[in-house]
Amino acid sequence: MKIVLASNNPGKLREFTRLLAPMDYEVIPQGQLNVPSAEEPFFTFLENCLAKARHAARITGLPAIADDSGICAEALGGAPGVFSARFAGEPCDDQRNNELLVEKLQEHENRRAHYTCVLVAVRHADDPEPIVAEGRWYGEIIDTPRGTGGFGYDPYFLLPHLGKTGAELTAEEKNAISHRGQAMAKLIEELKVRWH
Ligand code: IMP
Repeated sequence: MKIVLASNNPGKLREFTRLLAPMDYEVIPQGQLNVPSAEEPFFTFLENCLAKARHAARITGLPAIADDSGICAEALGGAPGVFSARFAGEPCDDQRNNELLVEKLQEHENRRAHYTCVLVAVRHADDPEPIVAEGRWYGEIIDTPRGTGGFGYDPYFLLPHLGKTGAELTAEEKNAISHRGQAMAKLIEELKVRWH
């Protein structure tokens, strides 16, 4: 089965390709099918994710999987949250986003943060029963970046129990425990039951 992946983020695409490898799908990034990025006008991960999945399915006529994810800092009331990609404004820039997050946390002792990932799969644009799966990954934000792996906020996202940031993990290590890895494991279980 061909499935379109509703993301243009190269970091996410790398992770998805690995995570979906066990499934018997031909996964095609939406950029290869000339699908422009969808609007993300909502204030929840779920609504934005559903909008992205429906948009990709509508334009391509294929089933679609979308991801909406971000990082939520406890001391900032969950910010940057759904605005993670464009926290420091557009065009999106990981380095400026990270600098702004660290700056906003300077006055806070509480550095706890978590990544959230929502995944949605639709069989077609108007699918009344999207499959939805969520994952969360808990850590804390540090002031100085460490590591070169991952993407986005990973060099500043410390896993205290491992003593490593997300960017110091191998791709396999990150996928095994990350918000996206957890959500994907749940999504795959549901796909096996409902899309056969
Ligand atoms: P989206 O494409 O609108 O879902 O934006 C997600 C944003 O959240 C990305 O651009 C990153 O800034 C951040 N993000 C999501 N997942 C990760 C991750 O696994 N590592 C680092 N940053 C992430």
